Amino acid sequence: MGELIDGKKLAALMQEQMKEEVSLLKEEGLTPGLVVLLVGENQASQVYVRNKDLAAERIGIRSTVERYPESITEEELLAEINRYNNDPLFHGILVQLPLPAHIDENKVLLAIDPKKDVDGFHPLNLGALFAGNPGMIPCTPFGIIKMFEYYGIDLEGKNAVVIGRSNIVGKPMAHLLLQKNATVTIAHSKTKELAALCRQADILVVAIGRGHFVTKDFIKEGAVVIDVGMNRSAAGKLIGDVKFDEVAPLASYITPVPGGVGPMTITMLMYQTIESAKRHRAQS
Ligand code: NAP
Repeated sequence: MGELIDGKKLAALMQEQMKEEVSLLKEEGLTPGLVVLLVGENQASQVYVRNKDLAAERIGIRSTVERYPESITEEELLAEINRYNNDPLFHGILVQLPLPAHIDENKVLLAIDPKKDVDGFHPLNLGALFAGNPGMIPCTPFGIIKMFEYYGIDLEGKNAVVIGRSNIVGKPMAHLLLQKNATVTIAHSKTKELAALCRQADILVVAIGRGHFVTKDFIKEGAVVIDVGMNRSAAGKLIGDVKFDEVAPLASYITPVPGGVGPMTITMLMYQTIESAKRHRAQS
């Protein structure tokens, strides 16, 4: 049975350390600040934003959630982003995705000051990551790297397969693994012989968005399996992309869902907000 990679525990530990750090920073007159811009009434987004707000509050980060109606125009939203770009109280700006169809997501991501782009989605930050010189890093893959570090999982020379090629998970994950000297393959919906490919993997990161898609047939004995997926089962239960019960006995390490990657994502958002605040102070 593989060892459980306990994201919840690691997230709590990191958040405790951050709380202490923020309290010291505050004594020195620096309060890290995060603003989340939320457009419309998307239920899942409401939950994510609330969790981010609560985490920030726990750590002592100044946190503001700006809520805008679905009808806000692109121009108005861009003006709001610009306002926060110029507000020295906020070191992190996050626009909760998805946005309504009439707003161009790319334009919005481009409008965020890359120095405050704590989600790491700005093309400049993605480009820096792909060039091997990362600034702000997308939080989900960043959290996964922290898990590897904490559990002492060596990536050098390992065969890594990432299933999924989104800009927020799959692609940045692949580049971070590459930087750690893994040999990386990115798989997607057009990949042939996916299970056979995955059986070559020492490290398998699954970010598809299909419940229990990855079975034991995908797993090489002793592989490290990271499940990014968040799906609802027919019974409404939160489930991952990996069939945990049959995969765990083959894996050397495995993340559960819930309690794996999810808590680390929020934690890295807070981490990057604090780092951004410190950089801002160093530059001013
Ligand atoms: P996404 O943008 O929908 O990307 C999904 C990827 O999976 C695509 O690249 C797609 O390939 C690939 N895919 C779909 N069906 C496939 C199949 N049958 N075989 C192989 N590849 C397939 O999703 P995402 O934003 O990356 O998120 C992925 C999952 O992670 C979702 O469940 C999401 O909820 C979850 N997530 C969790 C966290 C967290 O904090 N825990 C954070 C972000 C996302 P194509 O490119 O060819 O279409």
